[in-house]
Amino acid sequence: MTSTTPPTPGTRLDPWFGAYAQRAHNMRASEVRALFAVVNRPEVVSLAGGMPYLEGLPLDTISETVQRVIATQGLSALQYGSGQGHEALREQILDVMHLEGIDAHPDDVVVTTGSQQALDLVTRIFVDPGDVIVAEAPSYVGALGVFRSYEADVVHVPMDEAGLIPEALDACLTELRAAGRRVKLLYTIPTFHNPGGVTLSLERRARVLEIARSHGVLLVEDNPYGLLGFSGDPIPAIRSLDEDGVVYLGSFSKTFAPGFRVGWVVAPHAVREKLVLASESAILCPSNASQMAISAYLSTSDWRAQIKAFQVMYRERRDAMVSSLAEHLPDATWTVPDGGFYTWVRLPEGLDSKSMLPRAVTGRVAYVPGTAFFADGTGADHVRLSYCYPTPERIREGVRRLATVVNAERELVEIFGTRPALDDVSDVDNPGPDLA
Ligand code: PMP
Repeated sequence: MTSTTPPTPGTRLDPWFGAYAQRAHNMRASEVRALFAVVNRPEVVSLAGGMPYLEGLPLDTISETVQRVIATQGLSALQYGSGQGHEALREQILDVMHLEGIDAHPDDVVVTTGSQQALDLVTRIFVDPGDVIVAEAPSYVGALGVFRSYEADVVHVPMDEAGLIPEALDACLTELRAAGRRVKLLYTIPTFHNPGGVTLSLERRARVLEIARSHGVLLVEDNPYGLLGFSGDPIPAIRSLDEDGVVYLGSFSKTFAPGFRVGWVVAPHAVREKLVLASESAILCPSNASQMAISAYLSTSDWRAQIKAFQVMYRERRDAMVSSLAEHLPDATWTVPDGGFYTWVRLPEGLDSKSMLPRAVTGRVAYVPGTAFFADGTGADHVRLSYCYPTPERIREGVRRLATVVNAERELVEIFGTRPALDDVSDVDNPGPDLA
């Protein structure tokens, strides 16, 4: 190579381009990723990120807890551990899940490196290339990336304000079966959906489960936000209704801190065994130090009070988001989440969220275009706005800036017709870990 430009993976400048496995060709960063490099600058209000707001955590106490773990149990904390995860933590995870009505045994739990690894493991043990995974429209961008990397075909099923629509799910599964497709998983985020901001109603939970069961499809319930509700008690998880037909994914990332990278899966016994084997082949074992730190945190801190404090803080931010949307963007429509981090906004008629993004960033506000959340790159009429990280004042300022960009864009669309989209809209956006 004589060029001074370093080769970029996945392009013809990469001398190993022809050597990659097909699944690596499916792993592509989106063109919007480069734009996101600037969104964490202080001048930009980022309504794009999915990062929890950690400033509310008692860092002194956590620091003492971690120090105590190393001082008193250092030799095991710094050692390899069980592939299935630390037993004491698996028992404590049962207490956490109990809040959502789940009864399980510690042996049903596999600790993972965040629920993201759980998504990878579940897909790895169930999905062959060309198999179908049914998911909500829209769906979590990080899950879509995993599904693509295992060469699954994702088929989306619509939601309304009460979550996944059971009749549409039934019709979709019936049609796929008639077409001879192998549907392996129903992937759902029933509670405080990312990015949809809606929650599957209680009646629909039973119905969705029954439909999945009647079609012989395993239901994967991804639930990192379930305890971050803004009103009343936690909603019973789908897993609380059935042990055999559901694989449940949980995480400490949003209720405590993502940096420890601790999540978990609860699965029927035989599935659990495969998951442990798959996890051992990927990482040998999850971090003992992280698991023991979380275990010590759960046994010495009032983690329920911490979750309550997060609920109050995120609710205030949700309120700032929806009230400023009503004030500045009356022609848009949006979901009003009852928990979690995100609202899903339909832009005024004729706008394309992906092609508008560079102008939004110039206008010092960022969002994730709706296209990131569909396997087929549709969804340009929507944006995901997150209210988890910026303060209420910054959220209000961000929405005000977004409205300025939207109004300018509208004028241009009225004059020139629809704006051209960026080049490859069929590419699944992958904005990067801090934005997922
Ligand atoms: N599932 C959903 C729906 C998410 O929003 C996220 C994080 N944004 C994850 C899984 C992954 O979370 P983690 O690996 O940090 O547990």
